Amino acid sequence: MGELGAFLKITRADTPERAPGERVGDHREFVKLLPLVELKEQGARCMECGVPFCHHGCPLGNLIPDWNDLVYRERFEEAIEQLHRTNNFPEFTGRLCPAPCEAACVLEIDEGNAVTIKQIELAIVDRAWEEGWIVAQPPRERTGRSIAVVGSGPSGLAAAQQLNRLGHAVTLFERDETGGGLLRFGVPDFKIEKTVIERRLRQLADEGVEFRYGVEVGVDIEAAELLESYDAVVLATGSRVPRDLPVPGRELDGVHFAMDYLYGRNRDVAGSAKPALTAAGKHVIVIGGGDTGADCVASAHREGAASVTQIELLGEPPAHRPDDLTPWPLWPMKLRTSYALKEGGERSFAVSTTGLSGEGHVERIHWVQNSGVPPFDAVPGTEETRPADLVLLAMGFLGPEQQLLEALGVERDARSNAAAPAFATSVRGVFAAGDARRGQSLIVWAIDEGRRCASAVDAWLSAGDAPDAVAAVGAAGSA
Ligand SMILES: Cc1cc2nc3c(=O)[nH]c(=O)nc-3n(C[C@H](O)[C@H](O)[C@H](O)COP(=O)(O)OP(=O)(O)OC[C@H]3O[C@@H](n4cnc5c(N)ncnc54)[C@H](O)[C@@H]3O)c2cc1C
Ligand code: SF4
Repeated sequence: MGELGAFLKITRADTPERAPGERVGDHREFVKLLPLVELKEQGARCMECGVPFCHHGCPLGNLIPDWNDLVYRERFEEAIEQLHRTNNFPEFTGRLCPAPCEAACVLEIDEGNAVTIKQIELAIVDRAWEEGWIVAQPPRERTGRSIAVVGSGPSGLAAAQQLNRLGHAVTLFERDETGGGLLRFGVPDFKIEKTVIERRLRQLADEGVEFRYGVEVGVDIEAAELLESYDAVVLATGSRVPRDLPVPGRELDGVHFAMDYLYGRNRDVAGSAKPALTAAGKHVIVIGGGDTGADCVASAHREGAASVTQIELLGEPPAHRPDDLTPWPLWPMKLRTSYALKEGGERSFAVSTTGLSGEGHVERIHWVQNSGVPPFDAVPGTEETRPADLVLLAMGFLGPEQQLLEALGVERDARSNAAAPAFATSVRGVFAAGDARRGQSLIVWAIDEGRRCASAVDAWLSAGDAPDAVAAVGAAGSA
């Protein structure tokens, strides 16, 4: 496994990126790949742990030490086979996953030294696409069963691919004009170019998945019709209800949910529609310090905003892993600076917005510093006001939209209900996966949910009847 003792002489090489000053001038991906010789060295650093923690850190259970070794030995074709056993879309996670595997790597006990697992994953899959090793794998025979998957984000795509490969006839309904979910319309091109999504969609179509775009289930097609026409239904509709900001001035023009801005930016970059919202020349305030907020900041830079400020309610986390709160191998709750802030802009922690003001259109934001921890008591004398022409609310998502769940009669329950059979809902034959089931989360979890939901559906179909279903959908809040 790897090269004995290599981790003692070879240091970690971080993921290379295009220089911030250069990349803000376009929408091309900013993450690059290490040269082959360095990738092999990084693979060699994997040190044959007695108990590897990395693949427990990975929600998909990727068999990381195995493919680290294969890359070290330059056996990329075997590496992609190995990787595809657990991950349908490594090119999504290799670009976008926060890599909890690396936080759990034994070398990370010495902070900042983990094997560059995510880079190696990306190198394997990008090489496989280049070499033409990734081709359609249609099933040899069909089962005669039909399944409707609602939603084409990573969870819906993973469920559809797994179920189709098992021989079931899968129809995937998507209300947007094309597939990918948040990967397509939330995440900008400079994090993942859309050709990366399109080639996977083509693979699924070539394998036999039927895509029906521009069809909102519950609006363009009755929920009841779906239940009648298919043997099972998978709800992979995401967690799309945004958290609002109930402060004076919220109703002013120029105050928008982040996703309204990002949908527009993605359509604009794709050349499919001119957006209603623009950050060009504006003082932009992004409220919320997560991935969505970062993507708004970076998009505003590329549009030529006059200034970009990101504010976060919570206090600043510690610079290093807090061993008392999140000891290794847990995901460390420590300070991270997003790629977007490396490109410019300002960030403040422990800020509570107290109001927005202007004549019809927002002109200023008013805030106060807080204690940084709940209940976020205001610090007297820290009131401040700033110019604001565009305010983007990126404060997370509360859960799935309710209309379709209500039309289907799906009940909601607490996620802590350990008795809930995985992925089945309270309605016979209706299953749920991804952010719709677990709340706002990550791509790696969405793929994992899609895969496991597919297994649950297949087992249920094979058994010929539903288990005693308990609702597993709609747990509002974050994952
Ligand atoms: C801006 C942004 C950036 C992010 N960046 C990252 C990142 O860098 N790394 C990471 O790991 N995670 C990131 N995430 C989170 C990640 O994108 C999600 O966790 C993931 O996409 C969830 O996948 P999903 O398939 O469950 O849902 P979604 O991706 O939300 O897909 C749901 C799909 O269902 C469709 N749909 C909903 N209702 C219906 C209906 N009634 N009929 C038909 N179709 C319907 C929607 O149009 C959508 O296409 C980000 C999220 C956002 C918002
Ligand atoms: S999917 Fe994420 S956690 Fe899993 S190996 Fe890849 S980068 Fe690591």
